[in-house]
Amino acid sequence: MIRTRFAPSPTGPLHLGHAYSAITAHDFARAHKGQFLLRIEDIDQSRARTTWENQIYDDLAWLGLTWDGQVMRQSQRAAAYSTALNQLWEAGLIYCCTCSRRDIVQASSAPQEGLSAHHTGPDGLVYPGSCRSSIKDRVWINGAALRINISEALKGYNSVTFKNIESDINRPVFYIKDNLQMTDFIGDFVVSRRVNEAAYHLAVVVDDTAQEITHVVRGEDLKSATPIHILLQRLLGHPTPTYMHHPLIRDDAGKRLAKRDDAKAISKFRAEGASPANIRAMIGL
Ligand SMILES: [Zn+2]
Repeated sequence: MIRTRFAPSPTGPLHLGHAYSAITAHDFARAHKGQFLLRIEDIDQSRARTTWENQIYDDLAWLGLTWDGQVMRQSQRAAAYSTALNQLWEAGLIYCCTCSRRDIVQASSAPQEGLSAHHTGPDGLVYPGSCRSSIKDRVWINGAALRINISEALKGYNSVTFKNIESDINRPVFYIKDNLQMTDFIGDFVVSRRVNEAAYHLAVVVDDTAQEITHVVRGEDLKSATPIHILLQRLLGHPTPTYMHHPLIRDDAGKRLAKRDDAKAISKFRAEGASPANIRAMIGL
């Protein structure tokens, strides 16, 4: 059975871009007699607000979207993330990193052995690997971030592949990232910000597995992070869903909508008397 999800962060109002994601995932599931699940990505408790979470439920219901089963909330998932981190730790795939952002910038601008040039990837500047040698110490440093040793993680494979639906569900397109691309443009990514505080990439993979998501529908801004998620699924022994990366909704000037674009908030259109059909028309669905 097809299962999709919508996974907003309760850190601001839902805008037209969110509506596009939610409606696409919902309609796809319903068209295939599947299920549509909701997940509140409130892992960053310093920014998550209950009022925004309630507004999410309200906006989705108003749009006519119904979700199946219990709502999953990341703030209640610490045990599951911890299990996954332990699994990676026991496998010798992650190490402690104590670098500040500034350390990383400085190390990246110095000449390096083994790296052709510094690159930027889905998480910004690719980590130069300064703390990698700490992997042999096998000590969890309090307050340190945890990073994947990408070379270890890729051992035994030549590439990371994912299946993406562009238009026809029966004709998925395969995207292949070879190991050199994974090393140069992704590198040793963070799986935990502090010991036992899961980073986005880890949380999303663990949660998609727990919710048994078969088709991840999300914006194309996350397409560059998808190889990270596929790799984590492989390392954790999780199944890999099919992906659908949809175009982003842009404002009139062609700029992609950001969290703070309250001008495009669904609640604002509602207050002005728009109907759910008007919203669908505005975003071309
Ligand atoms: Zn470091």
